[in-house]
Amino acid sequence: MKEIESKEIQKWKDQYPLLSKLISMEEIFWFNPNIEKFQTGIKKSPLIQEDVRDAEERLKRFAPYIAKVFPETKKMNGIIESPLVDIPSMKQSLERNYQQPILGELFLKCDSHLPISGSIKARGGIYEVLKHAEELALQHQLLTVHDDYSILDSDRFRTFFSQYSIAVGSTGNLGLSIGIMSAKLGFNVTVHMSADAKQWKKELLRSKNVNVIEYEADYSKAVEEGRIQADMDPTCYFVDDENSHDLFLGYAVAAVRLKKQLEELKITIDENNPLFVYLPCGVGGGPGGIAFGLKVLYKDYVHCFFAEPTHSPCMLLGLMTGLHDRISVQDIGIDNITDADGLAVGRPSGFVGKTIEPFLSGNYTVCDEQLYMLLKELVDTEAIRLEPSALAGMIGPIKLFKEGTDYLQKHNLTKKMNKATHIIWGTGGNMVPEEMMAEYYRKGLKLTLNEQ
Ligand SMILES: *Cc1c(COP(=O)(O)O)cnc(C)c1O
Repeated sequence: MKEIESKEIQKWKDQYPLLSKLISMEEIFWFNPNIEKFQTGIKKSPLIQEDVRDAEERLKRFAPYIAKVFPETKKMNGIIESPLVDIPSMKQSLERNYQQPILGELFLKCDSHLPISGSIKARGGIYEVLKHAEELALQHQLLTVHDDYSILDSDRFRTFFSQYSIAVGSTGNLGLSIGIMSAKLGFNVTVHMSADAKQWKKELLRSKNVNVIEYEADYSKAVEEGRIQADMDPTCYFVDDENSHDLFLGYAVAAVRLKKQLEELKITIDENNPLFVYLPCGVGGGPGGIAFGLKVLYKDYVHCFFAEPTHSPCMLLGLMTGLHDRISVQDIGIDNITDADGLAVGRPSGFVGKTIEPFLSGNYTVCDEQLYMLLKELVDTEAIRLEPSALAGMIGPIKLFKEGTDYLQKHNLTKKMNKATHIIWGTGGNMVPEEMMAEYYRKGLKLTLNEQ
C-alpha cells in the first residue's frame, strides 16, 4: 500500500479527534462508537456459538493424546488451561501508584503459564495444528472421531504426517506453539520469524527440529514471505495468523473454560455484576477470539477492551478509521518498534477487526516504559513473572476509571462497579529465560526509581 497522502491524514485528524495523539504516540483510550447490543451484533458475525462448541469438542478429542505426549498436561487430563488468580496486592499497588481506586475485584488470567508454550498462543496455535492433523488423518481413514486419539503418538502416524509440512509467520510466540505442536505430531514445520523475534525462541525451536527462517523485516513481511513459500508447496499448510478462523476459534474456547473457573470461585456475572476484560492485542486473533467467546456466553454483561503499544496501535487505527487491514501504523508515520514483541504488529487482521467491531467496548494504548514498570510491580507484589507484552492489560482498570466515566454512565454501570470483576489477560512469560526476565525487572526498577 502506498504512503497515505498527508492531505488525507489531515482530513482524518479533523474527523477523528484522537488521531493526532495516536500519531504522536501518546497514550490514548478510544471507546468504540460502533458497539452494539449482542443480539444485533451477532447477526453480522461470520462465526456463531456452534463453531466455538465444535472447537471445544475437538480439543476434548485430542486431550488423551496431549496428556500422553506433554506430561505436564497430565494432571489436567490433556486440557491445556491456565489458572485464574486474584491479585489483591497488585490492585493496592496500582491504586496507590496511580491515585485511583479500582472498584470491584481484580484477577489475572495466567496464560503466561499455559503448558507447552507459555503464552496465549498455546490456545489458537495448537488448536489449528490439531485441527489440520485431524482432517488429514480422517481423510486418509487412519482415524475416526470415536477413536482414542492417543494412538496418534506412534511411528505410524508420525510417518504419515512427515509427508506434510506446516508453515507460519510469527514474532515469536505463535512460532513456538505451531512449531512445538507440529514437530511433536511429525510434521515438517517452518517458522518465518520477524526481526524482533527473540534469539532464545529461535534456538528453542531449532532444538526441537523446527526450521527457522529469519527476516530483517517486521511481522507482516515474515507472514508474506511464509505465505509465498508455502504456496509453492502443495503439501504445505500455511497457518494464516491474519485471516484464520481456526486460530480465532481455538482462542474462543478460553471463554468456556473461564466461565467454569468463575463459577468455581462463586463469582456471578449478570446484569448487576458486570465483567471487564483487558486483553493485549497484536494482529488481533488472540484477544479477538477470547472476546468473541466471552460475548457469546455473557452477552451485554461483559465489556472487553484491547490494549496495544503506543508504537503499534494497529487494531485501534483500523477500527477508528474503519479501514481495518487497509491501513498500517507505518502509513501514518508510526514506527512499529516496541519491546512488546508479541504486539509488534503494524497492520491488523481485517477478519478480526470486522468480526469484533460490534462487540468491542474500546481500545487503549500503553507505552513500553509503563509495561516494564508494571512488570516489576507484579513481581514485587504477587511474585508473578510476565513478559512485557503481557502487562498491557494491567493498566486497563486504572484507565477505565480515569477516562471511561461516559462509557460507564451510558451503559448504566456506574452504580454497579463495586460489584464488578476485572480480569487482566496475562498473555505470556513463563518460557522467558531467567536472565532475560531479570533484565526486564531491572529496566522496570530503573524506570520506577526515575519516576519517583
Ligand atoms: C500474540 C500475543 C498477543 C496478542 O495476540 P494476537 O493474536 O497477535 O493479537 C498478546 N500477548 C502475547 C504475549 C502474545 O504473544
